[in-house]
Amino acid sequence: MKRVNIVILGGGAAGLMAACTAAQNKNAGPIVVVEGNPKLGRKLLATGNGRCNLTNMHVSPAHYHGDVRAAEPLLAQYTPEKIRAVFRTLGLITREDSEGRVYPHNLQAAAVLSILRDYAAEHGVLFLLERTAVSVQKMKKGFRITLSDGEEIEAAKCILACGGAASPKHSCSDGYTLAKTLGHTVTLLYPVLTQLVCKEKLKSVSGARCAAEATLLSDGQPVCSESGEVQFTDNSLSGICIFGLSIPAGEFFSTGKIQGKPYKTLSVRLDCLPDLSFRELADYLLEIRANFPDRPAGDLLTGLMHMKVGFLLIQRAGIDPNLLLRRIPQGQIQKLAALIKGWTLEITGTKGWNDAQVTAGGIPLSEVNVETMESKKVPGLYLTGEMLNIHGDCGGYNLHFAWSTGCAAGADAARRS
Ligand SMILES: Cc1cc2nc3c(=O)[nH]c(=O)nc-3n(C[C@H](O)[C@H](O)[C@H](O)COP(=O)(O)OP(=O)(O)OC[C@H]3O[C@@H](n4cnc5c(N)ncnc54)[C@H](O)[C@@H]3O)c2cc1C
Repeated sequence: MKRVNIVILGGGAAGLMAACTAAQNKNAGPIVVVEGNPKLGRKLLATGNGRCNLTNMHVSPAHYHGDVRAAEPLLAQYTPEKIRAVFRTLGLITREDSEGRVYPHNLQAAAVLSILRDYAAEHGVLFLLERTAVSVQKMKKGFRITLSDGEEIEAAKCILACGGAASPKHSCSDGYTLAKTLGHTVTLLYPVLTQLVCKEKLKSVSGARCAAEATLLSDGQPVCSESGEVQFTDNSLSGICIFGLSIPAGEFFSTGKIQGKPYKTLSVRLDCLPDLSFRELADYLLEIRANFPDRPAGDLLTGLMHMKVGFLLIQRAGIDPNLLLRRIPQGQIQKLAALIKGWTLEITGTKGWNDAQVTAGGIPLSEVNVETMESKKVPGLYLTGEMLNIHGDCGGYNLHFAWSTGCAAGADAARRS
């Protein structure tokens, strides 16, 4: 039986930050991190395509969903500047891009993991790897944790940092059951920041990308719009702007509602050339027809957009791609311009947990003191990161929340030694 002051269950973003913060306090006593995977931070290494978009200069409640109101004091306390300063103290310099996304200066997620792991180890934190916490019992004083190999740990304080249900290949387990056995509740969970599955087959454009404005429509009415690069797969739409739309879409496919209002259908309208007005586009297409009357219609969009996407749109507008341009009537050219500016695809679902980056839903923030992340139900227990009922937009907001909760929990657990 190991006896420690602080046990941290989960060696991901929130758990490692909690360990580093707690270890900064010389009076913190022994700290152990339990991680079920053979290595720490497996998901962290995959973030930002291996570059780790670790926070965003635009962090504000507007970029979060779920129990946002309750999280406001935490977000006010842990600004992006503060998180960047914390990383600097740990030995990592960061840089921001033109959209406020913050990365490690060397653009390597491995560097983020390395500085967290090394800092914690240098400050005496013990890591127990390849052992999952299978139960957490509240004792008269502190907690008894049983690991998958039968070993037991007694700890005065326990920080749950087990992550969410998204992308299970990066995670050994999740901590919802542990939290429930300790008396916490868990709201409905569903995957977000993921692809949107289309009814229309997109095999011919699979792999193509185009800069677009994407609007989510529920029962034909706009819900929200995002601009950016849309990527096509065999049967779905992907890309950062689509991930943004997956937040209300995820809610729709798991509850039939968006922000509490019921809807029946969902679609995405793509403006595939947002920088041209309908008039400019139609005039340009007529100009091409006039200048190159003997070209096949299938080439009409070659100089304008991704060729495969253009070819598919020509077919969808009912134009025979083999017909010479001179034989395409003006009305059909206008129909094509309208389709390019408003290609509407019916959405049949989101990709599931395996493809999702984040979990929507979790333990309500009303069950924790958000200044310290201590449970209101179980003194000495702390809840952090993606396990909680809050999720952020794509762009560094989710890691920002993980770091912030890790800092708050680690500092409080160490202070109350
Ligand atoms: C592909 C991908 C890319 C992403 N990119 C970004 C990005 O660039 N920016 C951003 O802000 N967010 C990104 N995210 C989201 C972000 O990674 C998560 O929100 C964040 O890692 C959550 O931190 P966490 O500490 O709560 O959970 P995790 O980082 O998932 O860590 C939880 C850890 O706990 C361990 N664990 C679970 N249960 C137990 C148990 N019972 N016993 C022991 N160990 C346990 C798991 O194995 C895991 O290592 C991305 C997610 C994915 C999947």
